[in-house]
Amino acid sequence: PAYFDHNATTPLSPAARAAWLRASDQHWHNASSLYREAGLTSQALEAAREQFADLLGVEPERVVFTSGATESNNTLFAGLSKCLPADGVVAISAIEHPSVREAARAWLGRGRVIEIPVNDQGVVQPEVLQGILQQHSPALVSLMAANNESGVLQPWEELLKICRESGARFHSDAAQWIGKQPADQLGTCDYLTGSAHKFGGPKGIGFLILADAEESFPLLHGGPQENSRRAGTENYPAIAAMVAALESATENIEAAQETQRQHRNAFEVEMESTFPGLRVISEKAPRLSNTSLLVMPRHDNLKWLTRLTRRGFAISTGSACSSGKEGSSVVVQALGASWEELKRVVRISSGPDTSAEDWQSLAVGFAEVGAELDAGGRPK
Ligand code: PLP
Repeated sequence: PAYFDHNATTPLSPAARAAWLRASDQHWHNASSLYREAGLTSQALEAAREQFADLLGVEPERVVFTSGATESNNTLFAGLSKCLPADGVVAISAIEHPSVREAARAWLGRGRVIEIPVNDQGVVQPEVLQGILQQHSPALVSLMAANNESGVLQPWEELLKICRESGARFHSDAAQWIGKQPADQLGTCDYLTGSAHKFGGPKGIGFLILADAEESFPLLHGGPQENSRRAGTENYPAIAAMVAALESATENIEAAQETQRQHRNAFEVEMESTFPGLRVISEKAPRLSNTSLLVMPRHDNLKWLTRLTRRGFAISTGSACSSGKEGSSVVVQALGASWEELKRVVRISSGPDTSAEDWQSLAVGFAEVGAELDAGGRPK
């Protein structure tokens, strides 16, 4: 069986598991308590914060540990809703994850969220962003570094520079970038959010990087944990595991990317030859090397998915947050696809241990399922 849904979640990496067990055995005390062992947990937690900050190229004072990207994105927009003037707006790309799009709309109100369109490859164009900055003067621009469905990479460094010139703050949802792309430059963004389980860490732990050490807009109120920026007993074992996961995911990242890209590209070439009319979304844009978002030339995506599942392959239809709802790919929708096409979208995303043979057998699986569906849908 081969797992091709790493953009939905990843298995715990061996480094993360070891770090979690060690931390749970040695530092399970409440970091806020006053006896010696609690002090040691608190010290270990601050050391983990420093290491994490260093891996992302930010100051440790900017790091807030949260339960994941969804909480971090909500914290950011809830905070903005309190500090922006009543008519202040934000701009977000048309292909943001629901935890950005819906959080921005819920906390600020639909009318205050401007959408930045993408080109036919799913990329935000600098001149389009410039136009939006001039016309609307948003206080914040939110642009995901890498897209969860197509894997498309935004030219965020260039777009960040444009935002700086106009005075807008820049947020990047880096949930899909981290662990798949070098992460140490990301700290130049004003705000950053992400989740450990996307890069080999445990579920239920993530982070929000704030613009500076002084900023504070808690979503969760209560105790003074995380410097009063996020109440609740710190989950040190999960934090330690997240740091270990990030460290291990970023080791030799360039070589890992290259291998994955070769396997993914070979798969796409084979699929294009087996299925004339197949569309590879964002094929001409820079993409994550593990991701392939396809519009199949015929048959609904759930038919492909259920038959591939029976053969031991885990794939998805668009993003995991919306699978089960046919035709729900935000990305393919933003590219102006028809309803009919939306129902044929499948997403394939590999991980560091996915082999060339796994990719090859997935292509064979697709060919077999295609023949089965063409023959009327009955298994041969
Ligand atoms: N942002 C992006 C780009 C994602 O892919 C995801 C996960 O699907 C999230 C945010 C939300 O992460 P979580 O469900 O861990 O809060």
